[in-house]
Amino acid sequence: MTYKVGIIGYGGMALYHHLNVEKPDNVVFTSAFDIAEERLLKAKENGLEVYSDLKDFLKLSGVDIVLVSTPNSTHFSLAMAAIEHGKHVILEKPATMNSSEFEKLVCAAKEHNVVITTHQNRRMDKDYRIIKQVLEVGTIGECFRVESRIEGSRGIADTWRRKKSAGGGMLYDWGVHLIDQILDLFSNKVTSVFCEFSHITTNEVDDGFRLHLQFDDGKSALIEVGTCNYIMHPLWYVLGKKGSIQINYWDLSGKVVRLKDTQIKWEDEIRPNIAGPSITMAPRAEDTLCTLPLPEPVCDTDILYRNFVKAIEGKEKLWVSTQETMRVMKIIDLAFESAEKNQVIRCNI
Ligand code: NAD
Repeated sequence: MTYKVGIIGYGGMALYHHLNVEKPDNVVFTSAFDIAEERLLKAKENGLEVYSDLKDFLKLSGVDIVLVSTPNSTHFSLAMAAIEHGKHVILEKPATMNSSEFEKLVCAAKEHNVVITTHQNRRMDKDYRIIKQVLEVGTIGECFRVESRIEGSRGIADTWRRKKSAGGGMLYDWGVHLIDQILDLFSNKVTSVFCEFSHITTNEVDDGFRLHLQFDDGKSALIEVGTCNYIMHPLWYVLGKKGSIQINYWDLSGKVVRLKDTQIKWEDEIRPNIAGPSITMAPRAEDTLCTLPLPEPVCDTDILYRNFVKAIEGKEKLWVSTQETMRVMKIIDLAFESAEKNQVIRCNI
């Protein structure tokens, strides 16, 4: 069967799906609905049938799959309309604004017997695949701490991304990707959430945040996004009991440093060393460590449409399941609650 895809919201990300993301031969983009005249002209120029009315689009276009790629706060109602018309739905991230909206979409999809997923493409980013691979192979032993960061210095673009009513702000923007990566990495339950927002360049939405997650096996994760950082931290800083990983901006240089089996010799007395008078922080002897290059992981960047149609046919599990999206949305809910109350929120997610 050939699957026809229709796009709701022919903006920047829709163009990327239409023109850049690789699709299998049985997936074709045929139409688009948008509220902006100029976006419909663009869609027409790019060979799509265009609609300026949502009901007409859903009733007349004959599409099987709807991609929702509009500003965040509109995802829920547009996806619900598509589901109620029997369409399978791919939601751009964040799927919805909160977990209760997403729950309603999941129930509706079940009722109408359609498949829904979320586009969490950054699960296939090279930096993340490197971290996943090194942890899976066990090179650094048991991992106990992950720090993941995205930082820039240009504030937030002055578009809907700066507007609260549109679902703007960095937690809904980059935050969703980074939370999804961490939850994909660790399947243990999250037992507490603490989040602080920054408002350096705007008060309307968060222009950055710091989110701490604690897991029930003792692991912790720090996710940090900033838009006023003129010097950047590494993208990833990961600690295991036998080594550490660092990946730097954006050239993805970095290294794995791993403990050799050699035992450390502790000094009995404090002696001057490169760290001053300290035993604990004195640098290690070089021969107790080895430095390894970062691996070259496989990044299956074309998985979205290939997997989605197979999932519709019941031949594959969804690459990004609704349970996984629900977990991300619940963390987002608690992050907002934590920031508002300035409290650690205990949970079991
Ligand atoms: P954009 O502003 O470029 O495009 C949004 C489009 O939606 C515009 O054409 C606008 O006219 C249209 N629109 C607005 N309200 C609408 C409505 N009610 N009905 C129909 N059309 C409507 O935004 P964008 O950068 O393309 O972002 C769209 C979505 O994609 C967002 O949810 C964003 O978070 C997501 N996104 C994801 C990634 C990713 O890496 N997965 C990257 C960028 C954006």
